[in-house]
Amino acid sequence: MTLKDKVALVTGAASGIGKECAIEMAKAGANIVIADLNLEGAQAVAKEIEALGVKAMGVSMDVTSEEQVNAGIEAAVKALGSIDVLVSNAGIQIIHPVEDFPFADWKKMLAIHLDGAFLTTKAAIKHMYSSGRGGSIIYMGSVHSHEASKLKSAYVTAKHGLLGLARVVAKEGGEKNVRAYVVCPGFVRTPLVDKQIPEQAKSLGITEDQVIKNVMLSQTVDGTFTTTQDVASVVSYLAGFPTAALTGQSFVVSHGWYMQ
Ligand code: NAD
Repeated sequence: MTLKDKVALVTGAASGIGKECAIEMAKAGANIVIADLNLEGAQAVAKEIEALGVKAMGVSMDVTSEEQVNAGIEAAVKALGSIDVLVSNAGIQIIHPVEDFPFADWKKMLAIHLDGAFLTTKAAIKHMYSSGRGGSIIYMGSVHSHEASKLKSAYVTAKHGLLGLARVVAKEGGEKNVRAYVVCPGFVRTPLVDKQIPEQAKSLGITEDQVIKNVMLSQTVDGTFTTTQDVASVVSYLAGFPTAALTGQSFVVSHGWYMQ
């Protein structure tokens, strides 16, 4: 039980990768805060997690709103006593070729992925410092933190940006025992990816099957999607890692698609 009695807040955890990370950390003993735009979904996941024998709560949070982020984190600390682990995971995907990328969509992508990571870090790290225990901050990056793909200018830019933020937080947090990491999954079959398959097929003029085989999985060693469980195991391991030995690093979880 490496996370026993710790409090972990996961953004975007009403679905997909975030949900699995929350469940995995609950299994390791953590009390869990599910922060999501989708409050009903967040509360449903919290209920599922309580059945594992830990405390859990859902909070409504748009990670692009400073007010909502601060309010959600304060509510979590008030109810559960601390924040020891932050998983900044909320994210969306919008794809267009650069020349057609609406500026509003570009700004929305950077706001969710980068402003969200910054605002949640800023609000949570104060509690990690003041508790005297430090903590772990894990950013959900992507293979696209290291690699580029057509149509994904905003996503690739934002996911690369998280590497910089994590390295600064690792340096600033070092003395106070706060560690920062980026976990970088390959393609995982979640609603975010299901939405992209027909969109990419249309933009690239190929079939959906070709998108899966030739675009998403062609460079993996086993032709399979990364699973939410693959990612959650790494997140939970890092959340409970006892020293600063790994801080500032990124961890690619991609079935060999991208090798650092
Ligand atoms: P998902 O669509 O299953 O879940 C995303 C969650 O984020 C949803 O519950 C949604 O309500 C929430 N969300 C969206 N905007 C939000 C906001 N502004 N504030 C708060 N919550 C918000 O997606 P997923 O595939 O689980 O993706 C989670 C993270 O993993 C994202 O950062 C994504 O970029 C990253 N990622 C996904 C894949 C993949 O293949 N699925 C690969 C690499 C990285």
